[in-house]
Amino acid sequence: EVIVKLNCVVDTATQGHEGLEKIRQSRLTEPYDVVFVDMRMPPGWDGLRTMREIWNIAPDQFVVLCSAYSDYSFDDIVRELGMKSNFLILHKPFEPDEVLQIVQSVAAKTSRQDRDDRNLGSQLERAIAKEELSLAFQPIIVLKTGEIWAFEALCRWDIDGKPVSRPDEFIRVAEETGLICDLGNWVLREAMACSKQLEYATNESIRISVNVSPLQLKPGFDDALAYMLKVNDLRASSIGLEITESRCIDTGSASEKILANLRDLGFHILLDDFGSGYSNLLGLATKAFETLKIDRLFCAGLHSSSCTIPIVKSVIEVANGLGKTCIVEGVETIQQEKTLRGLGCNLVQGYLYSPPMSFDKAIEWVREGKKRSIRSAA
Ligand code: C2E
Ligand code: MG
Ligand code: MG
Repeated sequence: EVIVKLNCVVDTATQGHEGLEKIRQSRLTEPYDVVFVDMRMPPGWDGLRTMREIWNIAPDQFVVLCSAYSDYSFDDIVRELGMKSNFLILHKPFEPDEVLQIVQSVAAKTSRQDRDDRNLGSQLERAIAKEELSLAFQPIIVLKTGEIWAFEALCRWDIDGKPVSRPDEFIRVAEETGLICDLGNWVLREAMACSKQLEYATNESIRISVNVSPLQLKPGFDDALAYMLKVNDLRASSIGLEITESRCIDTGSASEKILANLRDLGFHILLDDFGSGYSNLLGLATKAFETLKIDRLFCAGLHSSSCTIPIVKSVIEVANGLGKTCIVEGVETIQQEKTLRGLGCNLVQGYLYSPPMSFDKAIEWVREGKKRSIRSAA
């Protein structure tokens, strides 16, 4: 007989809202690997409501729904909550060893992920210190004239020309491990140095737009940026700062003040990935933002039968009404470009114009662009 002992801490709650509170608290210290939710918990929330509430605050939480056959079917539940990979249904009656196996396999998966993240975090720390990161540049284009409005600087982590990790992955790890400030400072210094070099090499002042995590908006960030400008002998208007999560920029918050200071210094502030995640119309009204970048998911949905068209049209109108500019991200096809022209869109970015490129190529691009416009003027 094999006796398996599970080394884990078990916590219980008798009502959905009570469980939710425990999950909220645990996220600040040690998150639960797996949560078992009963379908019926009178008099409070049922299992479905409880799961919806859990995923609202913890979208990655693994949940096992314990349900009798007579309750909702799997199809009903997927229709209600969507298809997720962090979810199982356990039909009653079940045996203790079934619960044991679930807990073991989910915990193993979570600790593998944690270990991978820790490894990636320490590799990243070394890569930042040894300056092994680089920047790629993607042009933002004025639709009417084809001119370059700005370049977005995108961080890359490559060894021998091969990516070690994708930006969305290593940026997430940098945010979770606190490395984002060091990484972000390196990106800002590098972008400023490139801005100076670009102007020198092409005789044109084209803004370079840098992604800034909301976690970098701490007291002192504005002073540090002002100092970097001085060292590089640059005007603040030559640098754009793209901020993603506007939920962190609440009215009256410290972050909002820092953004306002940066705007007063002359930096161009952009609200990135608008329409995805947590951005909302109030974020748009935040005074510091001058430009709004509409998430590329909207562009992907721009075809004649789609309901995305009126949404993009309204967002452009609202932004213009507030005196702000709009950039549509992720333009990949001529058809999308045509639709965007019809919607009054002025600025675009995407593979249709160019993928992110090396700094040398970006310089070439500016020079070629100049030749192109001289030729077309002649
Ligand atoms: P983002 O700021 O929204 O950057 C645009 C992303 O869309 C880039 O991905 C770019 O390569 C990609 N893209 C551009 N045109 C197209 C297109 O036509 N179609 C499609 N499908 N994609 C397109 P990338 O470089 O992988 O960066 C992903 C995200 O990582 C960025 O999204 C940004 O949020 C973050 N990131 C990158 N560099 C930095 C950085 O230095 N600091 C911070 N905090 N975040 C960064
Ligand atoms: Mg961006
Ligand atoms: Mg974006």
